[in-house]
Order: sequence, then structure tokens, then C-alpha cells
Amino acid sequence: MQEIILIKMGELTLKGLNKHVFEDALLRNLRRALAPLGEVRVRSAQSAIYVEPKTPDYDMDEAAARVGRVFGIVQYARACQVEKTMDAVRAGAAEYLAAALEDAHTFKVNAKRADKRFPVGSPEICAELGADLLARFPHLSVDVHQPDVTVNVEIRDFGAYIHGTQLHGAGGIPVGTGGRAAVLISGGIDSPVAAWTIAKRGVELTPVHFASPPYTSERAEQKVIDLLKKVSAYSGPMTLRIVPFTEIQEHIANDCPEELFTIIMRRYMMKIAERIAQRAQAQALVTGESLGQVASQTIQAIGCTDEAVKTMPVFRPLIGMDKEEIIRIARRIDTFETSILPYEDCCTVFTPKHPRTRPILHYVVEAEQKMDEEALIARAIDGIRRVKIGE
Ligand code: ATP
Ligand code: MG
Repeated sequence: MQEIILIKMGELTLKGLNKHVFEDALLRNLRRALAPLGEVRVRSAQSAIYVEPKTPDYDMDEAAARVGRVFGIVQYARACQVEKTMDAVRAGAAEYLAAALEDAHTFKVNAKRADKRFPVGSPEICAELGADLLARFPHLSVDVHQPDVTVNVEIRDFGAYIHGTQLHGAGGIPVGTGGRAAVLISGGIDSPVAAWTIAKRGVELTPVHFASPPYTSERAEQKVIDLLKKVSAYSGPMTLRIVPFTEIQEHIANDCPEELFTIIMRRYMMKIAERIAQRAQAQALVTGESLGQVASQTIQAIGCTDEAVKTMPVFRPLIGMDKEEIIRIARRIDTFETSILPYEDCCTVFTPKHPRTRPILHYVVEAEQKMDEEALIARAIDGIRRVKIGE
């Protein structure tokens, strides 16, 4: 009995999006996610994708977990593949779902005959297999409305497939079908969730992190790398840009009014991220800002931050979320425990005592005039280090 993973594409065929582009990206992302686990065949037919291990010791638990993190899949199942005969279907179902059927009180059979050459129709498959399972597991009874176990049988191109529960996929759209965005990544809770949320919509990520050594440590950088590894389990591999930010922060601290420090710093981050995005052929910026969360995230402050970016949209996928909602996602994608490690971020190093919560753009721009912005940004970009993330 061969176990495979069966992924249905029915629900995820999108309006207006080219089906082949979508399917090719999904196959590519699945193959990449599964490659480290050993030899496997990933192929599509009849609006389904089949993940077929080529070795008997293939780690199906890990494979199923990885499939569950590939965007573009709503539901999938681990299934056993048998010959297309009723004998094989009866024997396969009884063996493959034995444990679940032993524990259950009620069950039903769902049958689908995608291969119309198969001589037995769906209602007959249900009746025959149902009767056979009742004979083999006499403690069971049939409940078509709320069964403990549903025995699914699908007669398809390459064989007959039997599976129990459907698993929930990560949803979303395959990464690589929606362009590219540069995402500003701190070591906090919010920005990794923002990155994941945008990747879920099919977008490839170019992460950008601002570091201020010696005020920020190597451990803080490693934390960002660790967070991005978690995100890359969903989004695929990416290349982090680490931007040296110390000189700019020191200049702001010396040359600008203290209450405008944070907003001017954030504008510099956006301007540099915009240049990085342009070079990386990205079409948008992403931040983890959420309205009202801190002084720099009032409407007025976000307005001033936004104005610094001239050539592309800035996405803030968390803008309307409460911290609780953000934390729920952070736990789900397993970034939370890393995010709460207490290493300093460049934002927390120079924090004004009384930040201006309603900055007025005119004064902010005037304060910035004292600095040689072009030279500072050019030096920061010159000092960028790249770190590859993900398998
Ligand atoms: P986070 O939890 O993502 O750190 P936050 O609630 O702490 O967010 P801020 O520190 O004000 O909020 O940062 C707002 C956004 O600015 C972050 O979500 C992130 O997108 C970006 N950002 C902040 N610090 C950095 C940094 N050192 N490098 C890159 N981006 C940063
Ligand atoms: Mg932060």
C-alpha cells in the first residue's frame, strides 16, 4: 500500500488569474519545499496534485507539515493509493483507516469517480464499501449526517485513492505569482506577521533590516534571521539586506529636535527601503505598523512616514489589527517565541522622552534639511550586507 498526499485545486482556481501560471508556481513551490526530504514525484492531473514518495522510508509526517505551509492550498489529504478494482478498494480502506474506524462509532463513505471508465458508479461504490466495512467492523453504524469518520474514495487517473480527514492548507496564493515587495523587518512581533501576510497573497519578499551597531548587537541580527527562517518555511527562500543605520541615527540625534527623532528615523528607513526595493525589482514596501499602537503609529505620524515614499505603495497589512490578533498569527506561524526574546532594536536605542504624536510634515521636512540626506543614504546603501535565508 503506497501512501501519498493528494491536493485538490478545485477551490483555488482564481478568477482572472492565469490558471497555468498559478499551477506552475504551486508545483515549483511544493517541489522546493519537499526537496530536502528525499526523492518524491510531484505531478498534477485532473485538477489535483499528487505528492508521491519514491522511497519507503520517506518522512510523510514532515512532508504533510510542509505541504501545509505552501500557499495556494486550501485542503489536502494523506491518502493511500491502490489498484483500480473494488477488491483493492475494500482491502485498502479496511487496512489504511483501521485505527480511525476502530475508534469510531459511526462512519459514512463518500465516493467520487473522476475516471468514468471505472465500471462501478459512485453510489454503488458507497453501498458496496459501506456494507463491507460494516461486516469487518461490526461495532460501527452508518451516519450520513455527522459521522465520526468519513471514508473518501476517489477513482482517478493513476489509481484509486482512499483517505479519511481532510487537512487545512495555508490558503492564499502561490508565492511568485504576485510580484515582489521589500518588507521592513525588525525583531518585533509585528513585522514577521506582516511579511507572512503579504507572502500569503503570492508576493515574493525582499526583507530589509536596519542595524545600529554597537548600540544593537549581533544577537539582535541573529534574531531577525531566525524570524525570517520561520517566515521562509511559508514564503520560500529570500535574501535579507542588513543596512548599517548607526551613522544616520547619530546624525538625527545631534541635528534634529528630540521630539521628531522617531518620525525622521522612520522616514529614513522608508527612503532607504524604497531604493533597495527599486534595485531588487520590488513594487511595494511592507511594514508591521498598526494604527494607534505606539506614538509613531498615529494617523498623523503614519502620514508623515508615508510621504517619504514617492514611487510605490506602502502596504501595512496589520493596520486594523489588535495586538491579540497579531499575536495569534505569530503563534500560528511560530515566530512569537523568537519575537519576544529581549534583544534591543535600533528603534529602542534612541527613544525620545516625549515623541511628537501628531507631527506636522512641514516641520519634519524643515528639521531634515540640516542633514546631508543624499550622502548619508548613499553610505548606508554602500554598507549593505546580504544574508541568504531558507532552503
Ligand atoms: P515590530 O513588532 O514589527 O517591531 P512595532 O510595533 O515594534 O513593530 P515600530 O518599532 O514602531 O513598531 O516599527 C514599526 C515598523 O517599522 C515595524 O513593523 C517594521 O516594519 C519597521 N521597523 C522598525 N524597526 C525596524 C528595523 N530595525 N529594521 C527594519 N524595519 C524596522
Ligand atoms: Mg519594534
